[in-house]
Formats: sequence, structure tokens, C-alpha cells
Amino acid sequence: MSAPEAPSVPTRRGFLGAGLRGALLFAAGAFTTLMGRHLRAERTVWQLDPYKCIACTNCATHCVLEQSAVKCVQFHPMCGYCKLCTGYFEPQPSGLNTGAENQVCPTGAIQRRALEDPYYEYRIDEPLCIGCGKCVVGCVLFGNGSFALQVRHDRCLNCNECAIAIVCPAQAFSRVPASQPYQLKTREHQA
Ligand code: SF4
Ligand code: SF4
Ligand code: SF4
Repeated sequence: MSAPEAPSVPTRRGFLGAGLRGALLFAAGAFTTLMGRHLRAERTVWQLDPYKCIACTNCATHCVLEQSAVKCVQFHPMCGYCKLCTGYFEPQPSGLNTGAENQVCPTGAIQRRALEDPYYEYRIDEPLCIGCGKCVVGCVLFGNGSFALQVRHDRCLNCNECAIAIVCPAQAFSRVPASQPYQLKTREHQA
């Protein structure tokens, strides 16, 4: 019967080599993790601040897309559900009905629906909205300011330089974290 094989003893050079390889692998892993975190933290998208926006109409005309990526959003918690909505009706409507001549919106993108008297609900038909902001002006002047413009991220190309941001007179555009791509209006902010 042959004698059992003696366990191999690592040489000093081998031990140092393995240690160095381990240290390098650890450093590479840490570097990759840090870079991953850094890149994730850097991802941003364009958005406009509805509290800075003066609804100048540039959002409708300066987007690189044929139909702007900026649309009106109805912040329902802010809405008064007014019968005479100044974001919906022209200043002196011939009647409080849905006749096109009575509406502020040039494309008929706002849907008006009667609720329990005297309240009405207003919703944006998004594909029809061109982002002109006329309803925003009306609602801010005499209502609660529940209509506001926002860059819609299902449409926006996230251009390096947003063509609207360049011409925005209110400097309302900035880059925001992609994880929080909308800037909402709230009653608390209004107070
Ligand atoms: S360009 Fe600026 S101020 Fe004009 S509508 Fe757009 S966000 Fe508002
Ligand atoms: S008035 Fe302009 S911004 Fe408002 S819903 Fe109509 S098209 Fe959109
Ligand atoms: S980033 Fe480009 S696509 Fe998006 S709103 Fe600005 S101009 Fe339009």
C-alpha cells in the first residue's frame, strides 16, 4: 500500500499572487458597482415646472416633434369642478354648453361631463391636445389652477438640448430624475 500524498504547501510567491488577483477582482467589482450606481443616478429627463410656466404657447410650437410632447394635464385634486370653468369656457360664452364657439380649447381637447348638480368634471383628451396652454391661462386667472402643462414621457425624445427649454421665457424647464419625471401641482404648494 502506498503512503498518502502529502498536502501541497503554498509557496510565498503563489500566496502573494493569489492575494493580488483577489484584490484586483475585488477592486474591479467595486468599480463596476460604483459606476452602475453613478450611471443610474445620472439618468434624467426634461420636465417643466408648472409653477414657473406662464403658458406662453412656445411649448406648442417649438418641440422638435410635429405634435408637441408637451400636453395639458388635469390635476383633479386641485379642481373646483366648476360649472363655469374659466379654463374651459371663453370669457363671454354665448351659453354654458359644449358649443365649439364657447370653448377656450382650439382643438376641443377638453371633455366636460355633468356630475351631481352643480358640479362638472373636466378631462383632457390627450391625443387632441397640442399643448397651447390656453386652458392653463384661463384656469389660473379665475380658477384653482388645476390645468397645467407637462412633458409627456411616452412622447418626449429626451433631446440633449430641449428645443423648448432654449426659448422658454420663464426658464421653467430643467432636467429631473427619470424616477420622478413629473412635477405635480398640489393644494399644499398653492397655500
Ligand atoms: S415655453 Fe415655458 S412658459 Fe412657455 S408654455 Fe412652455 S413651459 Fe410655459
Ligand atoms: S387649450 Fe391647449 S393646452 Fe389646453 S387642452 Fe386644449 S390644446 Fe391642450
Ligand atoms: S426634449 Fe425634445 S421631444 Fe422632448 S419636449 Fe423637448 S424638444 Fe420636445
